Amino acid sequence: MNHNNNKQPIYDVIISGAGPVGLFLACELALAKCSVIILEKAENPYSPLKQLPFGIRGLSAPSIEALYRRGLLKELEIYKRLKSPHQNSGIGTRRQVGHFAGIPFHDGDIDISQWKYRLPSSTDTSLISEMEELETILTRRAETLGVEIKRGVALTSFYQTEEGVTVQSGDQSFQGKWLVGCDGSRSIVRKAGGFGFAGTEPEFTGYSAKVDIADPEKLKPGRNVTAKGMYLQSQPGYLIIQDFDGGAFHNGEKPVTIEHLQNVIRRISNTDVTIITLHIATTWTDRARQVTSYRNGRILLAGDAAHIHSPLGGQGLNLGLGDAMNLGWKLAATIRKKAPEALLDSYHSERHPVGAQVLDWSRAQVAIMSPSSHARALNAIIRDLMDTRDGATYFAGRVWGVFTRYNLVGSDHPLVGHSVPNFELEDGSKIGEFMDEGQGILLDFDRNPSLKTLASEYGDAIKYTSGRVKEQLGLSALLVRPDGIVAWVSVGKPDEKSLIQTADLWF
Ligand SMILES: Cc1cc2nc3c(=O)[nH]c(=O)nc-3n(C[C@H](O)[C@H](O)[C@H](O)COP(=O)(O)OP(=O)(O)OC[C@H]3O[C@@H](n4cnc5c(N)ncnc54)[C@H](O)[C@@H]3O)c2cc1C
Repeated sequence: MNHNNNKQPIYDVIISGAGPVGLFLACELALAKCSVIILEKAENPYSPLKQLPFGIRGLSAPSIEALYRRGLLKELEIYKRLKSPHQNSGIGTRRQVGHFAGIPFHDGDIDISQWKYRLPSSTDTSLISEMEELETILTRRAETLGVEIKRGVALTSFYQTEEGVTVQSGDQSFQGKWLVGCDGSRSIVRKAGGFGFAGTEPEFTGYSAKVDIADPEKLKPGRNVTAKGMYLQSQPGYLIIQDFDGGAFHNGEKPVTIEHLQNVIRRISNTDVTIITLHIATTWTDRARQVTSYRNGRILLAGDAAHIHSPLGGQGLNLGLGDAMNLGWKLAATIRKKAPEALLDSYHSERHPVGAQVLDWSRAQVAIMSPSSHARALNAIIRDLMDTRDGATYFAGRVWGVFTRYNLVGSDHPLVGHSVPNFELEDGSKIGEFMDEGQGILLDFDRNPSLKTLASEYGDAIKYTSGRVKEQLGLSALLVRPDGIVAWVSVGKPDEKSLIQTADLWF
């Protein structure tokens, strides 16, 4: 690490916010030997809102793959408890495995054979995790890799020059070459950094509350869409409510009182149910906004700082972890002067469209959840479609991020821009297990000596791996980026010229 004239350290990267996205990004940067400090406003990482049931978060395929590829998946308790942690339980079962706007889709209806690149050796497409556990695992990993985490230190202001950034937290200052705002939906980095934040205003205020109810039998079980909104008692005393008030209550930033919550649940459920104790409550909305650029000079944004939308269908964390996986290696290569600066611009061009799709996915859900008769009619049609095999397969694929693909130049092969299938080698090892050091991989099924030589010319940036795999999918070789995205494929004798062009582009 460098120091300035006052002997203050100059970090490669200052990250604002030790939420899951800031922590995961820090791990990616530190893995690539960058010096990183995280400034976190909260003194204590623990909060009841990060524990079950509030802290429950659905992880989708790209997040599960990212954790797996960095050797972190096996640390999740839920993963350890799964007897067969691969794929769905199979045709014929009717286990609800996800939803769109509250309309369930079921395991046995999903035809995973349509997802050509998900092999039997692939990781799961969805997993339930707990925020607190995820953050604990990521914190441990970040600290092991040498990341400095300063808690109780909120970024209050900053400025950038051509050479770097100076960050202020009260009267403390920190110097870095780059600043990444991972400071959540109300990001100071976004607000002070001159980022445009375009999108749509909310239709509703959502409530998550833990309560004691005197007469719980007055509320119906399951998810109930009523003339005024929606309520769900997912487990005794745990209420989720959507009140289509245009987001007014949430925007007013008033605390949720027992009287207010009781009025809301009575109105939405059309009952006289009585809440006797309010343990904890939080509100949220479906405001959907995204920064118009993920980068402004030496300032970047990731996670909720870059995009906000309703938590319906559970996509925000997944989107943020995807940002971190995409940004980490590009920023590290830029810092280590191993990449043209244009590499960093591909962070915006790849992640902005993915974020925009998630925002639209959440808007589409709100549109058919509203209590209007037009929405009810559309809701019934979607329900019918989701009951079909193709419908369930489509919705599951979207919710689980199976279709995520970047539009990469140089090839129109459908696997280019897609997450690499978890190829299993003849000795039982899997390609994902070779990615724990964050390098690119040249995977050569034909043990071609010239490809080995070619990979070695990129030093430790590209790891050469060869051998026969159980399912070759008609390919002879692939070049995979450090984030697990396929950059180049060969279906016959490798075209070394195009391989070199692609490798030069990314490494
Ligand atoms: C009810 C609910 C259910 C959800 N369910 C799902 C789900 O199932 N699946 C899913 O993918 N997503 C879900 N989400 C969304 C998900 O929780 C968020 O998208 C995710 O937490 C974003 O992570 P982040 O690190 O970007 O931001 P955050 O988790 O908000 O972390 C930001 C961090 O920055 C810190 N900070 C803020 N300001 C400053 C400052 N000035 N200086 C320093 N630090 C600062 C904060 O203290 C915080 O620790 C849900 C959200 C809600 C509300």
